[in-house]
Amino acid sequence: MSAPFNGPEEETNRPVVIVGGGFAGLTMALKLSRERPRPPIVLVEPRREFAFLPLLYELLSGELQPWEVAPRYDSLLNSAGIALIQDRVSAVNWQNNELITDAGRRLTYGQLVLATGSQPNDFGVAGVQEHAFFFHSLQDVSVLRQHLKQLRSRTRGSENSSVVLAIVGAGATGVELACKVADLAEGRIAVHLIERGDQILPLARAFNREQAQACLKRLGVHCHLNAQVEEVSESLVRFIENGTSTTLEHQGLVWTAGSSPRHPPLCPEVGTGSARLEVDASLRSVNLPDCLVLGDLATHPNATGEGHLWPNTAQVAMQQGEAAANTVLAMRRGLEPQPFQFQDLGEMLSLGVGNATVTGMGVTLAGPLAFKLRRLTYLARLPKLSLGLRSAGAWLLSR
Ligand SMILES: Cc1cc2nc3c(=O)[nH]c(=O)nc-3n(C[C@H](O)[C@H](O)[C@H](O)COP(=O)(O)OP(=O)(O)OC[C@H]3O[C@@H](n4cnc5c(N)ncnc54)[C@H](O)[C@@H]3O)c2cc1C
Repeated sequence: MSAPFNGPEEETNRPVVIVGGGFAGLTMALKLSRERPRPPIVLVEPRREFAFLPLLYELLSGELQPWEVAPRYDSLLNSAGIALIQDRVSAVNWQNNELITDAGRRLTYGQLVLATGSQPNDFGVAGVQEHAFFFHSLQDVSVLRQHLKQLRSRTRGSENSSVVLAIVGAGATGVELACKVADLAEGRIAVHLIERGDQILPLARAFNREQAQACLKRLGVHCHLNAQVEEVSESLVRFIENGTSTTLEHQGLVWTAGSSPRHPPLCPEVGTGSARLEVDASLRSVNLPDCLVLGDLATHPNATGEGHLWPNTAQVAMQQGEAAANTVLAMRRGLEPQPFQFQDLGEMLSLGVGNATVTGMGVTLAGPLAFKLRRLTYLARLPKLSLGLRSAGAWLLSR
């Protein structure tokens, strides 16, 4: 498709172009599409399916099906009045309000929304790119699932296996994944969780951390704290644990030790290239005119009012998507937009098959009921409510 909105006669009605249909971008597109009069909306997203990342663990375990965790964009956007372009933005020429895509399209925008999220960060540790699995996309889940299947079939018949799966990083993703894999392995795969800090889940609520610690212990996960990974090879991981160099033989290593923001190249370049982009209180870029930045990509110097960054969560991204729609409408009407205020709704962690912990909104709960609450909450939040309820219904019926 070539530039459908170019031309001076359309200057005043140039579209809002949203780059990235993840939690922030999709929420914003759907919110804008409900406005009357509705501005022209273009969503540029390379994937066919939306990825509900907090439910990837349940996809790995088979507790949820791909259609529940990854609904197709064409069904989510069906008749919403949003022009979906399945393509990747390869450059933003922000001085002339133009985007270029991998397929060579040129799109002119009235307002640009950058919501391209984040990607795993290997922090330059040798061997990670070549030998580690990641857990950040639907594709990562299928690759890891296949590998776990092979490991399990290798250990069939044996009670105590010497097969080792190493997981690096004990933030939420590493801990949730370790619990799920250990539960699925039923003692036939030894799970080692390697963390450079002195505790797991440093940013979590105390109750959730305690529940996670108890769960890891019950499932027999080997936790290595104060352990800095230096090098990864196909079958070994070398780390410094409490000052001592340790080498662990493994049959698979998953890298969950961090992520970094990503965005298409900006021409001319602004900032350091791979850093978060700074926004004002209404989510407008401080450097790029006519541009908003959302989700994992955005930062504000005083984001939470205490000088912290906004956390990299779906919760923040969705709330920003809603707020950004109002900001864009105000910009188009020449009005001053309202500031975005993050409302912390709490924290939920998956802790193995049928187990979770939830803190927030007056609820502190762990165990099977928390698991059901977590899943129901997420499924009901799927950007298109009807689909979320359909998924939640399917899940409730399956229990
Ligand atoms: C395994 C895992 C578990 C998580 N669990 C939780 C949880 O339990 N609770 C929670 O709140 N948060 C969780 N998160 C974090 C949460 O998913 C992210 O904070 C959230 O997805 C950020 O939303 P976003 O819109 O900024 O980016 P994303 O949702 O990542 O969306 C970015 C989109 O941009 C697209 N894109 C990228 N580059 C381009 C380009 N050049 N052109 C066009 N499109 C592009 C991508 O394809 C993607 O669809 C989890 C994350 C992971 C990886």
